[in-house]
Amino acid sequence: MSPKIAVVTGGNKGIGYAIVDKLCSVFDGLIYLTARNEQLGLRAVQQLQSSNPNASRKVNFHQLDITSVESIHHLAEFLRKKHGGLDILINNAGIAFKTNDITPFGDQAEITAQTNFFGTVNVCNALFPLLRDHARIVNISSRAGMLDSIKNPEIRQSFISPTATIESLSDILNDFIKKAKQDSHQDDGYPNSAYGMSKIALTAVTIIQQRIFDEKPNRDIVVNACCPGYINTDMTSNKGSGTPEQGADTPVYLATLEPHVKSPRGEFVAERKILKW
Ligand code: NDP
Repeated sequence: MSPKIAVVTGGNKGIGYAIVDKLCSVFDGLIYLTARNEQLGLRAVQQLQSSNPNASRKVNFHQLDITSVESIHHLAEFLRKKHGGLDILINNAGIAFKTNDITPFGDQAEITAQTNFFGTVNVCNALFPLLRDHARIVNISSRAGMLDSIKNPEIRQSFISPTATIESLSDILNDFIKKAKQDSHQDDGYPNSAYGMSKIALTAVTIIQQRIFDEKPNRDIVVNACCPGYINTDMTSNKGSGTPEQGADTPVYLATLEPHVKSPRGEFVAERKILKW
């Protein structure tokens, strides 16, 4: 029988690395630690194999830059040919500009959305056809992307409308980028946070993805978004209050939800609890 397969994006460091480490203990299958930089990814696998006795058996490396359609396609084709399916996908890779970065805000909005939202959506679009029954997907979002940070009620509603689609979310995010480049995003009620907007869209897309999976309920495919907490990693310049291991807890919990779980499904979760988003 073919083994179960998990893929973790951005696994070379931080929360992604800790997720792979934890999955080694709780997931009975093969785990692909992916990274955009092959050298960093291979080094991370080596490091895991020297510290975690399960890792030599369970952890493999595959290159994946979530902003490259070609790279995504290579991974999808590799998984299809080698394993024919996928059981866990943890969309962890993400970026955040530092507060003192001098890149113009409009460019920050575009670059951040390209990775955190559009990149993740492209990974999903390429890998979802491989999902096996009972697959679990985790989109690592953030409390920095709470819906009420959008001051315009119409835009807020368009994110959570039952008729929202991935295309309509993409249109809103592109409008945000356009307004950010004109420096008028706040006049329209958008938040002054490129990272926050990208994560709002990521949590919103999770709800839509679950709605689509629920069209075939027997397949029992579950996707949730989560906030890992304020974690001590490069992203937070090591100012976070939690360890990467603590940050990995909720993502791994969501990735290993039991078959036919009733809840959470299509929710925003932190510290293993559903949050009003
Ligand atoms: P890090 O900056 O430590 O790690 C981010 C990871 O994402 C790195 O492996 C990085 O690779 C990878 N990455 C970035 N861009 C790409 C890309 N285009 N393709 C593939 N991989 C990419 O951040 P954290 O571990 O803190 O964050 C992990 C996730 O958790 C992110 O989605 C973040 O937004 C989210 N999060 C983190 C919080 C925190 O307090 N730390 C709080 C809330 C959410 P490389 O090394 O090559 O740059």
